[in-house]
Amino acid sequence: MLADCHIHMLLDGEYWRAAIDTHRQSPAIALIRERLASYAQNGFTYLRDGGDRWGVGRAARDLAPEYGIRYRTPLAPLCREGNYGAFIGSTYRDLGEYRTLVRQIRRDGGDFIKIMISGLMDFDRFGVLTQPGYPRELIRDLIAVAHDEGFSVMAHANGARTVEYAAEAGVDSVEHGAYLDSDALRAMAENGTVWCPTLSTVGNLRGRGRFDEQAVAAIYDSALANVRCFAAMGGRIAPGSDAGAWAVPHVEGSLDEYEHLRAALGGDFAACVTLGVQAIRDKF
Ligand SMILES: [Zn+2]
Repeated sequence: MLADCHIHMLLDGEYWRAAIDTHRQSPAIALIRERLASYAQNGFTYLRDGGDRWGVGRAARDLAPEYGIRYRTPLAPLCREGNYGAFIGSTYRDLGEYRTLVRQIRRDGGDFIKIMISGLMDFDRFGVLTQPGYPRELIRDLIAVAHDEGFSVMAHANGARTVEYAAEAGVDSVEHGAYLDSDALRAMAENGTVWCPTLSTVGNLRGRGRFDEQAVAAIYDSALANVRCFAAMGGRIAPGSDAGAWAVPHVEGSLDEYEHLRAALGGDFAACVTLGVQAIRDKF
């Protein structure tokens, strides 16, 4: 009984523009069925999508019961105009527009809300993010609005302060979480935030020659050290591979995430992951 708590059925692990083109007119049902069958054959019974605005996650959610899979989707992820995430999600300019989108997701049958509140790692430069995180008050308001509408919240968040603010505001899960410090880890542990460190998105870049290998190794090692530290604090960690991201193919990348977590956690791996998956399944 395996789980991947962060995938993108829309994407293919290779080239995001081509992947989007595949589904642009309508979700490619045969391809989605093929992937769901492969997940099921490899023992996956729970998948949580990170969202897309072309209805691919929703199509997968609707087909998944045929494969014995519980599949959850936020429909489109939400990001502030001009910030990271617009390539895959819906954008808003202010809190009023955000609330309108959240209510639309309710009407359209979304299972939870996915927000993007920071940039990505620059894989060529250790410690550098492509964009700073959102202001503390905005993070608090985004989470509060979604909770008021009855949704759990999954947040794409990198950087210590961004993650700390999200945890203090009661976010339900943090995705990626690069460059955390002990205050951010403690805030997540104390607030019961589940962390999906998406180690495959970094670990699977090693030896591929696309990015600076030393930077990639440093980012990966720092993530592993933080995962160990968080587990020692009693924090809940869930496997989420970001399958569909570059070098993270569906199923294979999902299985890789278990190996990356095993490398980080050693003997605590099984117990820790079981608790993390249960926490995600309870909220999502
Ligand atoms: Zn993602």
